[in-house]
Amino acid sequence: MKSIYMDHHATTPMDKEVLDAMMPYLTDNFGNPSSNTHEYGHIARRAVEEARKKMADFIGAKSADEIIFTSGATEADNLALKGIAYNQKEKKGQIITIQTEHKAILDTAKRLQREGYETAFAKIDEHGIVDLDHLRQLINPDTVLISIQAANSEIGTIQPVAEIGKIARDFNIPFHTDAVQALGRHDIHVERDNIDMLSISGHKIYGPKGIGALYVKKGIRLVSLIDGGGHERGMRSGTLNVPGIVGLGKAAEIAQRDMKTETERLLKLRNKLATGIESRIEQVKLNGHPTKRLPNNLNYSFAFVEGESLILACRGVALSSGSACTSASLQSSYVLKAINVPESLAHCSIRFGLGKCNTEEHIDYLLDLLEEKVKKLREMSPLYDLAREGIDIDKLNWTKHSH
Ligand SMILES: *Cc1c(COP(=O)(O)O)cnc(C)c1O
Repeated sequence: MKSIYMDHHATTPMDKEVLDAMMPYLTDNFGNPSSNTHEYGHIARRAVEEARKKMADFIGAKSADEIIFTSGATEADNLALKGIAYNQKEKKGQIITIQTEHKAILDTAKRLQREGYETAFAKIDEHGIVDLDHLRQLINPDTVLISIQAANSEIGTIQPVAEIGKIARDFNIPFHTDAVQALGRHDIHVERDNIDMLSISGHKIYGPKGIGALYVKKGIRLVSLIDGGGHERGMRSGTLNVPGIVGLGKAAEIAQRDMKTETERLLKLRNKLATGIESRIEQVKLNGHPTKRLPNNLNYSFAFVEGESLILACRGVALSSGSACTSASLQSSYVLKAINVPESLAHCSIRFGLGKCNTEEHIDYLLDLLEEKVKKLREMSPLYDLAREGIDIDKLNWTKHSH
């Protein structure tokens, strides 16, 4: 039997309704939406446009044309940053972002920096929330884009997106947000929140992998990264991934339909897990904001227990310590580092990512497991005994290393 899945920030299982919606477009309705001389093309085109409308409606876009389909959010993030940067004619501009962004933003910004563009990082507090005053101070005449995520995939911190949008609008600077983790879990509305571009990923909202979108508000000009047949208003060429797009549209429709009930349900489960951990296990630290966080996210450091060891010990539940890439390299999380979690505690962290398939029974099972395994692993840690006895290890009369 497979373990209980609790890693919904990494990916989500595709909804059965999504698969059902996609199936005809993987079989009989195989037309190319760009073919306009026969019904095969027309059927595919109609399905794509319907999905585009559903996505536009979901995020509060004025017009369906403002949705550009991509291969995922990584591509959407690349298109947003490079598309704006490469559109600068006279000078290489400055992009403002934060240190806790997804690698799709950070690595793109890094590449642009190597090409002569500038990146500035707005300060964040110990919970990961952006400092709006500092953001304002960073803005200069060269600023061409502000890109700040809607919610973080490791610590679940929700940014004040509408306030950032207001600042960007006041200075007349485009505002992009990577909303991959927030969509379907937190209320986002591009018109209301003054968002000019927004990245979407199918597989984070119970849709298919390999499909995503970038919302691009009318009037925003981007240089395309993939040239060809001029699809997607010239911003992203390539024959459209019709089944993927249909699946993404269906996932958006379901997310919109179920958001209220599902987020309330998740919040209840999440709070049960948090209360259980904090009452049953001593010396744990919550990473991220206590309240401004995604309803499906928790991130705890269990002092004196190595996160990876605890994850392995809790084999019955599929958990991770953070982003898939950093856990592969056993490096501690750059997100936790950015919010000043000490290295030793960052190594003790586990991320809990709840989702649709999780139940109260799963939480009970996990709590028993965590309590037992943390106790067992701590018994193997001599430093834990010192701490329990109230001995401050920094104040011990340590031998000094001579250099
Ligand atoms: C998963 C994720 C991405 C990348 O999305 P893909 O569709 O897998 O390329 C980007 N940003 C955030 C915040 C994510 O969680």
